[in-house]
Amino acid sequence: MSNELADWRDKHLNSISNSFCAAKWYNASLHLGHGYTNSCHLPLPHPIDLEEIKTNPSALHNTDHKKIARKMMLEGTRPAECSYCWKVEDMGRNSIADRIYKSRIYSPEDIASLKDRPWTDDVLLKTVEVSFDRTCNFACSYCNTGYSTTWAQDIEDNGAYQKFKTSSAGAYYADGSWAEPFGKYNKDNPYVDAFLRWWPELSQELQEVRITGGEPSASHNFWKFMEVVKEIPSPNLRIAINSNLGVPDKLIDKLIKTTHDVDVKEFDIYTSNEAYGAHAEYIRDGLIYPVWRKNLVRIIEEGNVNQVICMMTINSLCLVSITEFMDDMLELKAKYGWNKPLIDLNILRWPAFMSPLNLPDDIKIKLHKKLFDWFEIHKNNDLLAIHEKAQIQRLIDYIEVVDQGHVKTEDKKELHYHDFKSFYEQYDERRNKNFVETFPELKDWYDSLQVDYTIPDVSVTTGHITHFENEEYEPDVERKKSCGEKTWNDLNSNISTELKKGNWKRVDLKRKL
Ligand code: SF4
Repeated sequence: MSNELADWRDKHLNSISNSFCAAKWYNASLHLGHGYTNSCHLPLPHPIDLEEIKTNPSALHNTDHKKIARKMMLEGTRPAECSYCWKVEDMGRNSIADRIYKSRIYSPEDIASLKDRPWTDDVLLKTVEVSFDRTCNFACSYCNTGYSTTWAQDIEDNGAYQKFKTSSAGAYYADGSWAEPFGKYNKDNPYVDAFLRWWPELSQELQEVRITGGEPSASHNFWKFMEVVKEIPSPNLRIAINSNLGVPDKLIDKLIKTTHDVDVKEFDIYTSNEAYGAHAEYIRDGLIYPVWRKNLVRIIEEGNVNQVICMMTINSLCLVSITEFMDDMLELKAKYGWNKPLIDLNILRWPAFMSPLNLPDDIKIKLHKKLFDWFEIHKNNDLLAIHEKAQIQRLIDYIEVVDQGHVKTEDKKELHYHDFKSFYEQYDERRNKNFVETFPELKDWYDSLQVDYTIPDVSVTTGHITHFENEEYEPDVERKKSCGEKTWNDLNSNISTELKKGNWKRVDLKRKL
């Protein structure tokens, strides 16, 4: 726990309400290929109203669904879709949830001004993450067809993954065709059109645009957008690009050149990795560790970049070599400075069977100790920033305290263990990998798991997201009900059911196929 961050939270967020997060107003992830949005990457995305954006491009961000969540936050109610943050805060260790990291990038004045704004207001974004399409040359184990064309190829070639017992494994049944309602090249995509119409206004106010994918550098839509960015100087804007840094050299060259060519305040590069060597190559199918590291060094040395951030998706397998990976990042920091690279630890929740929590206790205790011991050595290392230390501590606490990652996922560990084995057996066969050879530390446990091959096969699905979390966070609802208190929904029955559900029912993407 960091006192500085906790003090900041109490002063700037909790003084408005204990469930307040400025990202709900000032930040958005826009999945323009799909036509979906969320306020940060943690809640499930929900659809954007196709009709509204024709006349009001800011409706890409200011959806009814988000406005209801803002109302909840102003009133001190915890929206269920932000469960990642509530789970961390409920650990009882004054742990720092993402709502602090994602809010403190805005000025105290901008945050305070939200308190008095009507919850129905449209708000101009300050930071935005945009994905134009799902083009990607990687097919990481925890990703799926909605975000990777290489994943889609796997399903097209081999059919749906089979024999699962938990619902969060259902992403592996999908071909992800829902993610391309306007075709691979996004021809006449009204979400992209609305974003480009909004850009001249948006670019003058935005602090940061972060482009993600898929793999942006492999997408012609991304390069088209960079041409638009070059035409409109934005001296206050920071551009950030998420890249897997595993694309051919000519694209890395082009990316490096772009960091020098655009007229903006700052350029940041984000990349992803969380394990070392062969472990990383197993988890992130397509990655070759020495190539990724070489390109990371090229970006640092040759790019005109302010900082380089390595996003870590903390899944169960990465815990085996997470400390070796952080040692490697510390080696780069020692050479290039504390923010080249930074590490950013995000704890995986979906699919739940890959969660670091869904390991048997004996293995979890060993891996937890390894991480704990590493942090004991490094907790005073000046090369680690305050938020990096807080995130490592949060992971240590999370493994210790939290039993199940997400309240609505199945809580029987045996079901997750079953799906773990079932998934990796099929992944090995399709991707020419070998779990046991890669993770001999897990061999005995892995071999002891039995897959139920009598589970009937399922057909390939489109992968449409059909469940949206628009209620109050469940533990609070349960507590209130048990005390006879009214829940947020009881108190807000005057808001129409349509509005409370968000606007996805009015969006019929199939019409546009
Ligand atoms: S998940 Fe957390 S950081 Fe994201 S919008 Fe919700 S409260 Fe903010």
